[in-house]
Amino acid sequence: MAEKLKGKEVSASLREELTKKVEELKGKGITPKLGVIRVGARPDDLYYEGGIKKTCGGIGVDFEVFEYPEDVDQDSFEKAVKDVANNKDIHGILLFSPLPGSLDEPIIRDLIPVEKDVDCLTVGGAGKVFADDPEGFPPCTPTACMEMLKFFNIPLEGKKAVVLGRSMVVGKPMAMLLLRENATVTICHSRTKDLPQVCADADILVAAVGRPRMVDKNYVSAGQIVIDVGINEDPDNPGKFCGDVNTADVEGVVGQISPVPGGVGGVTTVILCKHTILACEKQTT
Ligand code: NAP
Repeated sequence: MAEKLKGKEVSASLREELTKKVEELKGKGITPKLGVIRVGARPDDLYYEGGIKKTCGGIGVDFEVFEYPEDVDQDSFEKAVKDVANNKDIHGILLFSPLPGSLDEPIIRDLIPVEKDVDCLTVGGAGKVFADDPEGFPPCTPTACMEMLKFFNIPLEGKKAVVLGRSMVVGKPMAMLLLRENATVTICHSRTKDLPQVCADADILVAAVGRPRMVDKNYVSAGQIVIDVGINEDPDNPGKFCGDVNTADVEGVVGQISPVPGGVGGVTTVILCKHTILACEKQTT
């Protein structure tokens, strides 16, 4: 049976390290602070926001939500985002997306200064990540996946890694981060031919498709390492979540697998804190 790569172990170790770092900063009179910008009150945004607040509180990072009504107009919202961007007490900014269709999201995103772009929402931030410039923060989810692989001592150099999904928030930056560690990376998507075979050929498979339990035993092979990024409403259990991987179907085949829930998701909010602390250090020293 596959070993479960539990996010809790990774988060606990990171939290300890980050709490110490925040104590050191506070000793110098500096408190890292994350600003969250939210338009409207979508349940998934509120759920994520609650998790971030709890994680920040536990580590000692300050947290403030800047909330705007769903019908906020472009000009007022641009001014509001610029105010948060220019606030010297705020070191990291997260903007919940998608924004309502009445707002020009690419313009709004790029108002976030790259040094405060802790979840890679700006074109400038993404450029730095793709150029391997350490000044750019990769998005928190792929960074959490890398942190899991590192924590469980999974070798990447020379390994065949397949990333299933090509979004800017998960798939593409995930591929870049694996490449940085000298894995040989293939990115798959909805037009990939012979998809199950390409996935099964990997040493490491990262599933980020947003399709409940799509990755079944046809997509995996013996001993493979599987990172399940998916967070989907479980079609079989209303109100519950499931991953992109059919764990019951593959766990007798693969070597190691991250569970959903209990895998990457919980590590992601800790990474958001980590990036905010790093941004704070860079802005204050
Ligand atoms: P997304 O923007 O919808 O992208 C999904 C990707 O999967 C696309 O590249 C799409 O291909 C590909 N895809 C969809 N159906 C496919 C199929 N049948 N065969 C092959 N490829 C297919 O999703 P995302 O934002 O990257 O998120 C992916 C998953 O991760 C979701 O379940 C999301 O909830 C989860 N997520 C988790 C976290 C976390 O913290 N753990 C954070 C963010 C997202 P095309 O490009 O060809 O359309």
